[in-house]
Amino acid sequence: MQRALDILKRDANGFLELPRVQLEPKLTFSKNIFIPVTNACRNSCSYCSFRLGKTYLLSRSRVTKMLEKGRKYGCKEALFTLGERPESNKDVSKKLKKWGYSNISEYLYELCEISLSMKLLPHTNPGSADYEELKMLKEVNASMGTMLENASPRLSEQDMPHENSPGKHPEERIKVLEAAGKLKIPFTTGILVGIGETSEEIALSLEVIEGLNRKYKHIQEVIVQNFKPKKGTPMEDYKEPDIFKMIKVVRAAREVLTSPVQVPPNLNIHTYPIFVLYGASDFGGVSPVTKDYINPEAAWPDLEELFKASERLELELRERLPVYPKYIKERWYSDRVGEVINLYADDEGMVTGQSPPLKQGSLFREG
Ligand code: SF4
Repeated sequence: MQRALDILKRDANGFLELPRVQLEPKLTFSKNIFIPVTNACRNSCSYCSFRLGKTYLLSRSRVTKMLEKGRKYGCKEALFTLGERPESNKDVSKKLKKWGYSNISEYLYELCEISLSMKLLPHTNPGSADYEELKMLKEVNASMGTMLENASPRLSEQDMPHENSPGKHPEERIKVLEAAGKLKIPFTTGILVGIGETSEEIALSLEVIEGLNRKYKHIQEVIVQNFKPKKGTPMEDYKEPDIFKMIKVVRAAREVLTSPVQVPPNLNIHTYPIFVLYGASDFGGVSPVTKDYINPEAAWPDLEELFKASERLELELRERLPVYPKYIKERWYSDRVGEVINLYADDEGMVTGQSPPLKQGSLFREG
């Protein structure tokens, strides 16, 4: 904890005295289609606009159409994002029942199966799913992810951003990360920076993630995400973290973590290359088709621009799959997921070749 804190508390002069980081030889990204399965959520995070507005649950036919579009644009990853425990919303629960599912995980399982049949690799963000749900979803996912956000329970206290979000309590989130570790699921997690946390709480969060990864070796990447204010939310007038703060957090993350550090380029559209100099090596999922439904105001950079930016840094940018090469080598996935991985992965576990043509029919079932 002290190592991260030492970086986070430095002023500009002190920061510049730090030894430079060793740059990763390759930068990576994953070409994805972002599928917002439902915006219903039992939580109410003060910074979130995703759950606002009319509640919806995408039908199988709608999801299939999105996946078809993803295939057309050469995506390899289907990112399934949703609110947490959406069954707590009675309309969603009614619809799920009508469609023949007793809970959202069963529905997600089928959507992932459709995705695999269409040769797209699912990466599901299941919120605080339990051990059995994760075990079931592992069969049809290349990897999964749940943000820790922050390891401090203080952020769940009164007047704090997670006050009304039981699923964001760090105990809950750590339970998910532990379960994913036990199940050997290649897992993405991360921290949200600028929601009222202290430097100590950022340092603690990085240590907690690294501690879990040391135990289970399953954290494939850690997202350092900057808070962005959203209109209509209780934190709409809150300031986002400045660039120096973000640089310090990325540098501290690089110091503490053994997993790759990811900074979303769409949330830092003018500054994302800078974070590479301080230890970030991954740009995460970038979609040529869909917007970032969690941050709809933040457009993805063009892939061409991402390549140009990497060239300017004199670093190679490679497309990766939603599962990192290390886990491809160790085969941390089911055979059916492996079949799709094998279509795309080269000897290094990076993307090679072209997407195979989409087979017609059979998958389209009206939701
Ligand atoms: S950030 Fe996620 S968990 Fe929080 S309210 Fe929004 S959808 Fe729900």
